[in-house]
Amino acid sequence: MDRTADVVIIGAGIVGTATAYFLAQHGISVIVCEKGEVAGEQSSRNWGFVRQQGRDPAELPLAMGAIRIWQGLERELNADLEWIQGGNLMTFDDEVGQAAWEGWVTTAREQGLESQLLTPAEIADHLPGNRIECRGGVFTPSDGQAEPTVVTGALQRAAEGRGAEFLTHCAVYDIETTAGALSGVVCEQGLIRAPVVVLAAGAWSSRMLRLLGVRLPQMWLRGSVARTQALPEITSAATWSGVAFRQRRDGSLNVANRSVDHDLTVDTIFNLPAFVSNYFDHKRAVKLHFNRLFFDLLAGRFSKAALRRELTRFRILDPEPNLGQLRGLVADVRRLLPAAAEAEIERTWAGYIDFTPDMLPTIDRLEQPGGLVLATGFSGHGFGVGPMAGQLAAELARGAEPSLDLTPFRFSRFHDGSRLKPFSVD
Ligand SMILES: Cc1cc2nc3c(=O)[nH]c(=O)nc-3n(C[C@H](O)[C@H](O)[C@H](O)COP(=O)(O)OP(=O)(O)OC[C@H]3O[C@@H](n4cnc5c(N)ncnc54)[C@H](O)[C@@H]3O)c2cc1C
Repeated sequence: MDRTADVVIIGAGIVGTATAYFLAQHGISVIVCEKGEVAGEQSSRNWGFVRQQGRDPAELPLAMGAIRIWQGLERELNADLEWIQGGNLMTFDDEVGQAAWEGWVTTAREQGLESQLLTPAEIADHLPGNRIECRGGVFTPSDGQAEPTVVTGALQRAAEGRGAEFLTHCAVYDIETTAGALSGVVCEQGLIRAPVVVLAAGAWSSRMLRLLGVRLPQMWLRGSVARTQALPEITSAATWSGVAFRQRRDGSLNVANRSVDHDLTVDTIFNLPAFVSNYFDHKRAVKLHFNRLFFDLLAGRFSKAALRRELTRFRILDPEPNLGQLRGLVADVRRLLPAAAEAEIERTWAGYIDFTPDMLPTIDRLEQPGGLVLATGFSGHGFGVGPMAGQLAAELARGAEPSLDLTPFRFSRFHDGSRLKPFSVD
């Protein structure tokens, strides 16, 4: 099969699918290649937080733009996304945390985002009867939550309704260039000629870019999530207080926290210089493991043929959740929330999160090779910002002026000597 399109998108997570949706709105012919299923990886496995609160000030405009889209998205897509704009609640334990959050709230206000500092009594208005021991909290009322297992599918249907084509079980093996500019991709169904390719391949982006000799520092971290049975009404605020939880429409809780596992791969070694100082800053939140993933992903780093095999062998990355961690977190929830005293784990899962050294995404159109748009590296924030990221990637793909300043998300920051450090309020 030899096909042509105006734009090919690699990856049908929320970012690639939203990009297709916004491109199709402009009558641009777009083909999305997905090696597995739509939203099979991170985009269906996340907690479902749509959060501006606590974001890097450089990322706030992206998160705020996303909220504007989320507010009208159910109507626009004619779909139930289980969108609840119930706010985001976080707590702090001591004076240092309080000072950091006061500073963040001031910065957020300067950017037009309303967030409030709360006393423990005010926290109880959101979480009645809670036994959280804290000095205070912060609440952003315009934050929300949605159901990851339905959102990307709804975007796909709307994109298809406008003419976009989705090829699933169709891995892209290679990205072709002619005279320094992109000319198409080689996928499982043959060649697709296109002058513009959007790389929205999540955890696989760095591996795909190496095909072009482009180096993107990226690390995979394994995040685990537990789901409880349906519980009495607790809160409509997505909450983060040591343990993170949100109550879904059916009353069940998604429970997790910021601790992650890192399964060592050969990329860990190559990316060490870019990540090592951040690792030591957050050592307590990252557990290292040496397991079979190291060997599973070894050869694809060095050979195109091996990468092909990896892309089809791992059609959907489905790693093991950290059960010990999740049991402890659900026990915390039982202890902290009277209404969750009977909470039991009904389901668990995990996903590999793609992190960059500064935990900011890359949304950029490269000059070399011409025609390559990057929309990747969402570092654990991509569900919330996904719709806006898709809009911006679509603008770049059709050569329009981006509606946000994309300087913080430029690809060149990884190679121009910029000092890259993740922002953290606490
Ligand atoms: C446990 C967990 C909790 C999280 N919690 C939150 C949260 O609460 N809020 C939030 O905002 N974000 C959260 N995130 C992060 C969020 O899920 C991601 O940032 C977001 O889904 C990234 O979307 P994406 O489209 O870039 O990538 P993905 O959803 O990973 O999609 C990339 C797709 O590209 C495909 N692909 C890759 N290579 C190829 C190829 N060569 N050919 C064809 N297809 C290819 C993959 O199969 C995949 O489907 C969480 C993530 C995890 C794992």
